[in-house]
Amino acid sequence: GLVLAACGDNGDDADTDGSGSDDDVAEEASGTVAFLLPENVTPRWEGPDREGFEEGMAEYAPEAEVQVFNAMNDGAQQQQQAEQAITQGAEVLVIAAVDMTAASVIVEDAEAADVPVIAYDRLIEDAPLDHFVTFDGEQVGRAQGEWLIENTEDGDQLVVIHGSEDDDNARWFADGYMPVLEEAVDEGTRTIGYESWTPGWDPSEAQESMEAALTQLDNDVQGVLSANDGMAATIIAALEAQGMAGEVPVTGQDATEQGLQLILEGDQGMSVFKDVSRQADVAAQISASLLADQEVPDDLVPDTVNNGSVDVSSRLLEVEVIDDEESVMLAVDAGLHELSDLCAGV
Ligand code: BGC
Repeated sequence: GLVLAACGDNGDDADTDGSGSDDDVAEEASGTVAFLLPENVTPRWEGPDREGFEEGMAEYAPEAEVQVFNAMNDGAQQQQQAEQAITQGAEVLVIAAVDMTAASVIVEDAEAADVPVIAYDRLIEDAPLDHFVTFDGEQVGRAQGEWLIENTEDGDQLVVIHGSEDDDNARWFADGYMPVLEEAVDEGTRTIGYESWTPGWDPSEAQESMEAALTQLDNDVQGVLSANDGMAATIIAALEAQGMAGEVPVTGQDATEQGLQLILEGDQGMSVFKDVSRQADVAAQISASLLADQEVPDDLVPDTVNNGSVDVSSRLLEVEVIDDEESVMLAVDAGLHELSDLCAGV
């Protein structure tokens, strides 16, 4: 494989957290916060999200207890986990929702029990939500769409493999990339030959979709919009089986170890880097304030997102595109990956 120039150096994985802790909050914050994760087919959740949240809580609310649940892509199970957490006395819920409909029931239940809810990464619509911490989903999708248009040519046929339809984010990303792709379709410079959603963001489902697309289109595919890296890897496997890997640009998201290795090898075109440790850190700071019964500082949640029933005080973090050796270093410098781990797989 390709030798990454930077693989000769010793990576500097300095942490860039740096936010000062509030001593008042730290002393007064006690009780339990429940952190409800959606699935474990995507490495971020049990990785940097969980680690970052636990580290943040240890810093901002050392007296508090953190309970972590993972719903394994099952919305009903997540609802049970939330109910169990509330019954056992959790005072704050931080939820990355599996299913936006089931999740609004969770928010109603929590409100009835006087437990504030922070939507983590994925919005919960039509419910009395208290806070929302995320990355700008439209910016994510637009970056994917623009990259794909820039890296394909007039006359090219595209395949679009969306994320999970019951995840609010999957639609938000599509709201970013579809207008970009549709503009090219309207101008007659691209066609979209196949489009599908991926239940649970499951990479094996994405692989089946890509195989179906290649069969249906007789391998006449020149670009793939894949909504994230886990799906991109299996989409690339489907391309590889037809001898097409590396020739067809494929997008992604999350800057996973595998995704970045595929970028360095030239089989994946791009990923969207989300500095998840910052997101987890913000969620921990909000949780600490809530556990201490203090106002959540405005600068933690300066944005507003309407979820169809309330204006939710929110934090929208910025993302960055990774599509070459140089930009891969963004994820290394932020401490998401060790350079040696990336190099070992290339
Ligand atoms: C997250 C993505 C992730 C996907 C699958 C989305 O809600 O924003 O980062 O790849 O879920 O877990």
